[in-house]
Amino acid sequence: MNDHGNDPQGKLGLLDRLERGPVLCAEGYLFECERRGYLQAGAFVPEVVLEHPEVIAQLHREFVHAGSDVVEAFTYYAHREKLRMVDKEHLLEEINRQALQIAKDVAVETDALFAGDLSNTNVFVGDDESRRRVRTMFEEQTGWAVDAGVDFIIAETFSYGEEALIALDVIKGTGLPSVVTLAVHHDGTTREGWTPAEACKRLQQTGADVVGVNCIRGPETMLPLLKSIRDAVSVYVAALPVPYRTHGAQPTFQSLRDPDCTVIPDDRPFPTALDPFTCNRYELGEFAREAYDMGVTYLGVCCGAAPHHIRAVAEALGLNPPASRYSADMSKHAFLGTDSRLKQENREFASKL
Ligand SMILES: [Zn+2]
Repeated sequence: MNDHGNDPQGKLGLLDRLERGPVLCAEGYLFECERRGYLQAGAFVPEVVLEHPEVIAQLHREFVHAGSDVVEAFTYYAHREKLRMVDKEHLLEEINRQALQIAKDVAVETDALFAGDLSNTNVFVGDDESRRRVRTMFEEQTGWAVDAGVDFIIAETFSYGEEALIALDVIKGTGLPSVVTLAVHHDGTTREGWTPAEACKRLQQTGADVVGVNCIRGPETMLPLLKSIRDAVSVYVAALPVPYRTHGAQPTFQSLRDPDCTVIPDDRPFPTALDPFTCNRYELGEFAREAYDMGVTYLGVCCGAAPHHIRAVAEALGLNPPASRYSADMSKHAFLGTDSRLKQENREFASKL
């Protein structure tokens, strides 16, 4: 590995790939594992990497098949504070090392980039004591990622810009490339009150290779943030929205409400009843195209993402992942198709569908 994240032995590193074109990264493992019945909503701790490693390996494969260039180790929320919340702090190292090994194996198998992952700790409050605690948590997770031989490290979903800066500082100590993304909540700023552009500028000044936003906001309410970030920095910019139809009045997936449905616990669709708000693949493709045209070249989808979303993002950028072999071709549909071999009677029936 050299300074540019390039492995002279073979595969191109993150920064070389970004130099050549877009890089896609599928995220959203918590939500997908929850939907599949292997992870509990609420604490959202990725114990699944120990209990059902085959589920994670297969999900990594599906995302790469759909176009992800990155296999991101599922160490999101596998930090000391989250494990303490579920009385499993003793599993901290095991869960991290296992998540990294699963991701590494799939990255090797698929020739994808292998990324470590840090996230918001939920203990940062801006005083010296929490700064120290947070740094220690990042250092232990980063150490395991380095031991596993990651190609780069992602630090994501920070609502405090300063916490993101601490994560970046720890990553920089490894010499590996960094991708640092902020979660921009309802009021549109970090919790210190920095605009996303200002926060990204600070991250760039501290040495981040890729800066941007992920999670929390859907395409419609993330897109307006991107122009100001792109204008404020000269490094690569990342955008990984949630695939939900957030809008001006409800700009985040936690603020979405569904007045038509009366059976949702606590009247809040987040996180288990967001289904009716889910973007279709074409909407994600459109987002990717618009973001890319703006100069955003590290793209993906976060919580709620499924492989068909990732494939749509890839195809919107002109890419042709293995899963594109199965992209829709309605010309051969029995009723709606146009192929001359189809029964004319069925096509006439289709006009009544
Ligand atoms: Zn997310």
